[in-house]
Amino acid sequence: GSRRVPAYNPSAMAIYLDHAATTPLRPEALEAMLPYLTDRFGNPSSPHAFGRAARAALDEARERMAARLNAEPRELVFTSGGTEANNLALKGAAWAGKARGNQIVTSAVEHHSVGHTLAYLEKFGFEIVTLGVDRYGRVDPEELEARLEERTILVSIMLANNEVGTIEPIAEIARRVHARRGVLLHVDAVAAAPHLPIDVRALDVDLLTLSAHKFEGPKGAGVCFVRRGVHILAQQQGGTQERYRRAGTEDVAAIVGMATAYELACAERDAVTARLRQAGARLARALAAEPGIERTGHPTERLAGLVSVVIPGVDGAELVVALDLG
Ligand code: PMP
Repeated sequence: GSRRVPAYNPSAMAIYLDHAATTPLRPEALEAMLPYLTDRFGNPSSPHAFGRAARAALDEARERMAARLNAEPRELVFTSGGTEANNLALKGAAWAGKARGNQIVTSAVEHHSVGHTLAYLEKFGFEIVTLGVDRYGRVDPEELEARLEERTILVSIMLANNEVGTIEPIAEIARRVHARRGVLLHVDAVAAAPHLPIDVRALDVDLLTLSAHKFEGPKGAGVCFVRRGVHILAQQQGGTQERYRRAGTEDVAAIVGMATAYELACAERDAVTARLRQAGARLARALAAEPGIERTGHPTERLAGLVSVVIPGVDGAELVVALDLG
């Protein structure tokens, strides 16, 4: 037949423990997406009935996501994922703030889509201050505050770390950052999103990033929250989509799938967290019984279900390959 996809046949015994890298698409999200991959294929920018059906789905997805984040629908920019949302937030805020200053403060433990984006901005005259973290991976809010200068325009710190699971003191950081006029706070909440309730007003952030494939939504969909009144420069030019902040025809199906998955993740969060906390503790106990294995990340301020250890003398990547063959 026309099927060109190679057969997928992992061992029936395989246990997938890499949800920090990506999660499977949940069936409810797939179900919600299917109409927009088939008969409801319209372009949301088209004025006719096909377009209007797609537009209605897009508007509804935006309202549902916004309600869960305590944001206004117009404050959400849909993107192709976390990487694009981080690029848009950082480059967009940096270029929009260039007249006020050139300094950006971040941490040493950010995802590459933050770290490498800031390294790129450095080539254009922005000065990047990279804060170290303590042994648990935490940024010190006091140290951060001490590095804020007159020319600081932006601070970018993640809500939780995707490798060790440590939760950063964002509310405390926000308080100190916003004590300065005109300094924006960007928070990469990609790793935190399935695990922690995210309220953009309670966190008091100006920019925030989410990625659908970390909470059982589809790959290739994300959100850049841009607080009302915050100006960012669009990073791609074209149509008027997303209030001129992200040109390009929206992936309606992926966005609908993302909203469905996020709503369910929020509804199920408490129950899932309790289950993950138990399972994580069990795994951590078993690992701790082995000599030399050391747990990393913060002992209490951490994401449930994210277990991180160091095994002396063992290369992490090699271990993953060995477990995969096992
Ligand atoms: N930030 C963090 C903390 C992440 O873990 C990831 C995904 N590995 C990203 C950003 C990038 O998201 P995406 O895969 O949707 O581009």
